[in-house]
Amino acid sequence: MKGRVAEVFDSVQGEGLYFGEEQIFVRFFGCNLKCQFCDTHLDRFAEYEPEELLEEIRLYRNNYHSIAFTGGEPLLQKNFLKEILKLTHQASYKNYLETNGTLHNELEEVIDYVDIVAMDLKLPSSTGLKDFWYHHRRFLEVASKKETFLKMVICQSTNEKDIREGLRLIKELNKFLILVLQPNSYEDYEQIKDKLERFKDISRDTNITACIIPQLHKKIGIK
Ligand code: SF4
Repeated sequence: MKGRVAEVFDSVQGEGLYFGEEQIFVRFFGCNLKCQFCDTHLDRFAEYEPEELLEEIRLYRNNYHSIAFTGGEPLLQKNFLKEILKLTHQASYKNYLETNGTLHNELEEVIDYVDIVAMDLKLPSSTGLKDFWYHHRRFLEVASKKETFLKMVICQSTNEKDIREGLRLIKELNKFLILVLQPNSYEDYEQIKDKLERFKDISRDTNITACIIPQLHKKIGIK
């Protein structure tokens, strides 16, 4: 079974709660969404058998925090993902899954081999797409078996209604989940700053812990 992988590299995690941690990144090719703020434009990939990918991962020294399976959307290739997660799990790596949080059936099949889920909540007023509340709900029910944190990308277009809907979901399913509010890096931070602070206050009033964390790798110029 072969998987399509756009790149394998090591770097420092630049977003979310684990920013600053050194990781090996495995970027899967292909995504099921087209968010208007997407910064991942992949046009090529290499095909790997799971064992070949493990061999490539083993070329890196072994004191990384974890392996970040990212994309695109890794769960789109769930059979291949399951096999490589099993292999890295058996080899005592920590598996960190970055996902858009929409493919709950696929997550169910791999969750046993995942250590940390970094899940996006896709707000329609941010993505320019339809809402995914039903899918996010089902996804979170599965993800909550493991350590999970959430991320919302905040744009000038993001509205309060979507934030409140997201908070309602978190409160209902697991009020201890931490929410990262991530400013869209394509927009001027000064223009979104007030909105971020307001959304953080709304989160606090709802008893949800939210923190504002920009994409640090872009700010400090690393991959
Ligand atoms: S889910 Fe992620 S990779 Fe896919 S289009 Fe949206 S931002 Fe891009």
